[in-house]
Amino acid sequence: MIPGSFSYHRPATVADAVKLLSDLGDEARALAGGHSLVPMMKLRLATPGHLVDLHGVAGLKGIRRDGGNIVIGAMTTQHELLISDEIGKSLPILHEAALLIADPQVRYRGTIGGNVANGDPGNDMPALMITLGASYRLEGPSGSRDVAATDFYQGAYFTALEPSEILTSISIPVPAAGHGYAYEKLKRKVGDYATAAAAVVLTMSGGKVATCAIGLTNLHETPLLATNAAKAVIGTSLDPASLKKAAAAAEAIMSPAADARGPVEYRKHVGGIMVTRALQRAASRAS
Ligand SMILES: Cc1cc2nc3c(=O)[nH]c(=O)nc-3n(C[C@H](O)[C@H](O)[C@H](O)COP(=O)(O)OP(=O)(O)OC[C@H]3O[C@@H](n4cnc5c(N)ncnc54)[C@H](O)[C@@H]3O)c2cc1C
Repeated sequence: MIPGSFSYHRPATVADAVKLLSDLGDEARALAGGHSLVPMMKLRLATPGHLVDLHGVAGLKGIRRDGGNIVIGAMTTQHELLISDEIGKSLPILHEAALLIADPQVRYRGTIGGNVANGDPGNDMPALMITLGASYRLEGPSGSRDVAATDFYQGAYFTALEPSEILTSISIPVPAAGHGYAYEKLKRKVGDYATAAAAVVLTMSGGKVATCAIGLTNLHETPLLATNAAKAVIGTSLDPASLKKAAAAAEAIMSPAADARGPVEYRKHVGGIMVTRALQRAASRAS
């Protein structure tokens, strides 16, 4: 399929990118790695009249430590996350999840900013961001604002991002030393989006769960923070009864679409299994 015609713009600064998006209005879309937007254009599900390519914008790449946070530039690719020592050391769950996204070709080009800004329930990074308590820096015509990842997702392809804003960076609090983590993703084949996936970040103390956060991918029109499921395991040693309660609490908030990945009941059931597996694997990694 061939996309509709569009004009191509390549600004050099954030201010120029924001001005272009603002001047061109609803017809314009930011272009990052293009691995979600271009396929949608080829299917004519997106028909922007103007693409504002962010590749020439200075300062949108990189991974740096800022006190207790890791700040990742929006144009940092999934491949760059995978080769970063800082990510491997401080946020290993990002490393684990990035490896489960598509294939090397997509990961060389696809960006973390595009993945979290896209609003596709199948994207893997948003559930991690809500699990980790991340916030997004958005730049628009009237300046910048920070939006918590938990407040960003409003519906499928519907986010808090205004049409003239761009996401410039993501700030993620570094989890406690010795934390356990796991991203469990069920997919039909290598390179597929999740049928169901669960992210867990927890700490253990004296053999019991001290803190826990659980995020869910592709089990609702937005990523979900499974707060009651996490509460069900805090203070427990992840015995079978507590794991069962956590899976049931997570399933209670899931409302996946019935699609080629399976009917609703199947996807909820495997969603519960992903939660159980992620909790067990995270606990086995905690020290
Ligand atoms: C075969 C295939 C398999 C895939 N499998 C998976 C998978 O399993 N899991 C997964 O998570 N993803 C998957 N993807 C999607 C891939 O990870 C994309 O790269 C990602 O979703 C979007 O990032 P991008 O940089 O390519 O963004 P683009 O495609 O360029 O943009 C996506 C959307 O976000 C907007 N946008 C991008 N950057 C910004 C910004 N900085 N500020 C504001 N708006 C912005 C664009 O306007 C557009 O609406 C797959 C893609 C392909 C082609």
